Amino acid sequence: MQNLFEQFNRTTELIENECLEEALEILLNLKMYTEMAPFCYYRIAQISNMIGEPDEAYDLFYKALELMPDIASKVLPDDHPSLNYIFRGKKVELEIMNCTLCGGESENHWCYPLFEASGYNEHFNPIRMWRYCEKCHHIFARNFPEKPFIYADIQKKPNPRYFSYYSNILSNIRKAGFTAGMSLFEVGIGAGECLLAAREIGYETYGIDVINRQVEEVKSRYGLDVETADFNEYIADREWDIIMMGDVIEHVNDPEAALAKAVDMMADDGALWISTPSFESAYSLVLGHTDAMRRETYHINYFSRQSLYELLERNYLFPVDYQISDHYAGSMEVVAKKI
Ligand SMILES: [Zn+2]
Repeated sequence: MQNLFEQFNRTTELIENECLEEALEILLNLKMYTEMAPFCYYRIAQISNMIGEPDEAYDLFYKALELMPDIASKVLPDDHPSLNYIFRGKKVELEIMNCTLCGGESENHWCYPLFEASGYNEHFNPIRMWRYCEKCHHIFARNFPEKPFIYADIQKKPNPRYFSYYSNILSNIRKAGFTAGMSLFEVGIGAGECLLAAREIGYETYGIDVINRQVEEVKSRYGLDVETADFNEYIADREWDIIMMGDVIEHVNDPEAALAKAVDMMADDGALWISTPSFESAYSLVLGHTDAMRRETYHINYFSRQSLYELLERNYLFPVDYQISDHYAGSMEVVAKKI
């Protein structure tokens, strides 16, 4: 038994060093031993995904979970927050087969266990299949619950480190002449750092978020002008000079509608600031399969610069600036203006 686990652990090292064939050979032998089978299925699934066979990976990950529902406790590091995760069967989820941007054909692309990342929420099925649309060069989640955000129960305190980060973003918008306007609307306020920084600088601010608990907290504690609302259902009664959409479009199943609304609310000489992870960012290319973004429970879309720019252009916006995020590793930050 000891020897079997030694052999198994050797495959971890081999996979890290990309000696996949050698690892696979050991795993195919080891899976004959009943007690080793779930571990082997899990590892073979990882290899299948790495060599471009996501369907096989999907089946094998579930096979491993069915044989050993508490496999998370065995394959994750000892201090991992999902260590106690137990698989209790697959839940019914929405299934999106056509591209979330163009509605066109797409194919299965990547497959990862979501519980390998720190922010896993058990209301989501544990295995994420990502699909790819060649036309848009865009990636999106195949399955997720109908209302993903009703499961979010986040109450974060503002992180003071981010005030200067937002100050630099707004300063860049003014100095580059993208807009000199001093009214700002934020979609997805999070813990309120952007609005707090903007208000300090002298902006007139307003913000919305779907997470009520967070909205109530920043309203009562800091007196920010905010409300609980879903952006797709929000009706704006005025225009704003700056629309901030930090880490929003990867969460919505209709990014096109979100963009159209932002354009509607934006003053003609205003600016839209968007931040979202890019699967082609230098960071993500270097991290490859270990990138946590591929295991991000709440993300429905995974953009590239191309898929984001095309989305902007379809909505009569053109990108005027691209920055690599200082806040989220692997995210791009784009400023767009009306054509
Ligand atoms: Zn598409």
